[in-house]
Amino acid sequence: MRTFDDSYRHKGLRKQLTDIIRKKGISDERVLNAILHIPRHFFMDSGFDKIAYEDRAFPIAEGQTISQPYTVAYQTQLLDIKPQEKVLEVGTGSAYQACVLAEMGAQVYTIERQKKIFESNKSFAFLKKYPSIRFFFGDGYEGLPTYAPFDKIIVTAAAPSIPPKLVEQLKPMGKMVIPVGEGNVQQMLRLTKSEDNSIREEIFDNFSFVPMVEGKKN
Ligand code: SAH
Repeated sequence: MRTFDDSYRHKGLRKQLTDIIRKKGISDERVLNAILHIPRHFFMDSGFDKIAYEDRAFPIAEGQTISQPYTVAYQTQLLDIKPQEKVLEVGTGSAYQACVLAEMGAQVYTIERQKKIFESNKSFAFLKKYPSIRFFFGDGYEGLPTYAPFDKIIVTAAAPSIPPKLVEQLKPMGKMVIPVGEGNVQQMLRLTKSEDNSIREEIFDNFSFVPMVEGKKN
């Protein structure tokens, strides 16, 4: 069960959450503003209602998680989103990250490999607020060749290495933010494609994501 009541108390908790994230080093006001406006408790079962605004990851269906707000903010800030940009997200999950991108004006294409999670988002009424998000059931390792190239790509699951097809689907001057690593901890990487298609790689902090798994799950 989920509740769709956004009370003053929820709004107050969201303000506190953005203050916490700001103190942890997020300075992009557009990112903070998106987090301030999206009712994160809508994305979780109502049992988690009171703790939805703690800066923590939480379990959702099928053994997956809704990422920690700080992590969502961190990846989004590294992407440097501009209105109207075409953004590919790998790992829809709860769709919270997709809403943050859409709230910032991006055209979002998001892929989920688990059918149950993909289907449950179809009946999630709040998402109608963001008609600029397109949902796909598929394997993120393949990307979305039909809709490529993308200005930005964000991967929200841990990749053992950089998926080459995603790099191909990035526009020149495009950026991809992806947690890469084999074990429990991954390094956040930002790849920037130059006009001549060469790739510059920057390394940021360590995070811990659920694994990016190959193939679809029906
Ligand atoms: N962005 C999500 C976080 C999701 S957790 C949010 O805001 O809540 C990671 C998600 O990636 C899970 O739902 C998992 O099923 C999905 N995933 C893992 N490997 C994938 C792949 N190869 N393609 C698409 N989705 C994948």
